[in-house]
Formats: sequence, structure tokens, C-alpha cells
Amino acid sequence: MAGETILILGGTGEARRLADRLVHDGRYRVISSLAGRTSDPDLPPGEVRMGGFGGAEGLKRFLAEERIALLADATHPFAAQMSRHGAEACESLAVPCLRLERPEWREGPGDDWTVVADAEAAAAALPAGKTALVTVGRQELAPFLARADVSLVARMIEAPEAPVPDHCEVMLARPPYTMEYERVTFRQKGVDVLVTKNSGGAATQAKLLIARELSVPVVMIARPAKPEGPVAHDVETMAAMIEAKLS
Ligand code: NAP
Repeated sequence: MAGETILILGGTGEARRLADRLVHDGRYRVISSLAGRTSDPDLPPGEVRMGGFGGAEGLKRFLAEERIALLADATHPFAAQMSRHGAEACESLAVPCLRLERPEWREGPGDDWTVVADAEAAAAALPAGKTALVTVGRQELAPFLARADVSLVARMIEAPEAPVPDHCEVMLARPPYTMEYERVTFRQKGVDVLVTKNSGGAATQAKLLIARELSVPVVMIARPAKPEGPVAHDVETMAAMIEAKLS
């Protein structure tokens, strides 16, 4: 019989693996929350709810109604608002909030990174007349589309809602990506510069290794600040932290 209820703020591979780990543990009731942005999401085991809560207040109501004993924030490193709402709602109800966040990528020997604060700054940093592989997702494409002097190859999981201009080629693909896939992509598309968020993780890291191999510069969008609080960097550590909190 499952005991205390854990709410996982999901939408990442780590969140899915955490749900799997906690459901199979058998001691907890596990609810995963997804934003509902992807039309065919890879659902985690356990209970799943979809869509926004209606801000921090809505989340607070949900935590109270479902008697959530612990919030596990396993959202993407760039989902800053959801994490902020999670921390705020938990603080006001004295519910423990733990974050699971994959480590950042770091610049190494042979890399040529320009680190910028956001998508606008990344678009502004692109050299005119070049071909950029843009891997920021469809939500943040607008500033790049405004750069009509750059050839864009915009890679994303689902097509953008609005049509894109002629200087942008949309490439639909779903991670993980292999080294060979990235090597072929960079060569076939004639990529001069790569744009990426510092998402971290192995599933999309090959593009950085190929950029290094082919001496392609990288415009790296830095992570937004997330709330203070305990953070685990892998699923097993997170599961141990949860167990310690709920024992
Ligand atoms: P966000 O800007 O932090 O959140 C915007 C709003 O979306 C939140 O205020 C919340 O609405 C709703 N939301 C976000 N995550 C949710 C969740 N797990 N469950 C229920 N509602 C959620 O986040 P985002 O950038 O839109 O990201 C949305 C989802 O995609 C997240 O689950 C994130 O982990 C995943 N994701 C994001 C990125 C990225 O680069 N941003 C990349 C890959 C995956 P209410 O205020 O109405 O509650």
C-alpha cells in the first residue's frame, strides 16, 4: 500500500526516471505533473496530471488538496517560472521541496564558446552571412527568425505553430542524438556556428563534441537562476534525499 504522496514536476528524462524509481520503490504514491506542451509525451509510470496549475496559488491548492508530502522539482534547467512557483508554494505550506538538476556542460580544451544570457543575446551574437544550427526549441525561435542575414537550421521536436521565413530550414528530430548523426548534420547543412542552451545531459551533448571536432564556434545560452534549496544531480541521490526527508 503506497504511503506518502510525492509530486514530481516533470517534463524531462530525469523526471521520468525518478518516477520510475519511486513507483518501483513501492512506499510512495507518485504523481507526475507535465506542462502538456508535447502532443505525444513519453508518460512516466504512476499517476500523471497535465497542464499548468494556475500560478503559485493554483499549485498551493493542488499541494493541499492532494496532501503532497514532498515536491520533487525535476523540470528542465530552463523552466525557471515553474521552479519559482514550486519553491514559493512549498515555502508557504512548509512542504519540503527538492530539486533534481543535471549538471551543466562546461567549456573544455578545443571549444570556442560565447556565453550569453538569453535567446535575444544569442541571436545578436550570430555573424552575418553564416549558417547557424539553432537548437533552442520552437518557443524561443523568434529572435533568430528576425536575423534575415543568417541562414538558420532550426532543429526542434515539434514544428513551430506559425510558418517560418525562407532563410530558416526547420529540422524535426527527437533526442538522443549520436556523434555520427551530429557529424552528418553539421557537414550536410554546412554549419558555421551552433546555438544551444546549456541544458546539460548526455542525450544532446554530441553536438558540442562535433562542434569541437570540426572547430565550429558555439553560442551558449547560460542557465537562468533557480530558487535556493537542496539540489541533487542524479536520480539515485535524489531518491536517497527523498527517503531521508520522508523517513
Ligand atoms: P516555465 O516557463 O518555467 O513554466 C511556464 C508555466 O508552464 C508554469 O508557470 C506552469 O503554468 C506551466 N508548467 C511548466 N512546467 C510544468 C509542469 N511540469 N507541470 C505543470 N505545469 C507546468 O517552463 P517551460 O519552459 O514552459 O517548460 C515547460 C515544460 O517543458 C517543463 O516541464 C520543462 O521541464 C519542460 N522543458 C522545458 C525546456 C526549456 O528549455 N524551457 C526544455 C525541455 C523541457 P502555471 O503557472 O499555470 O502553473
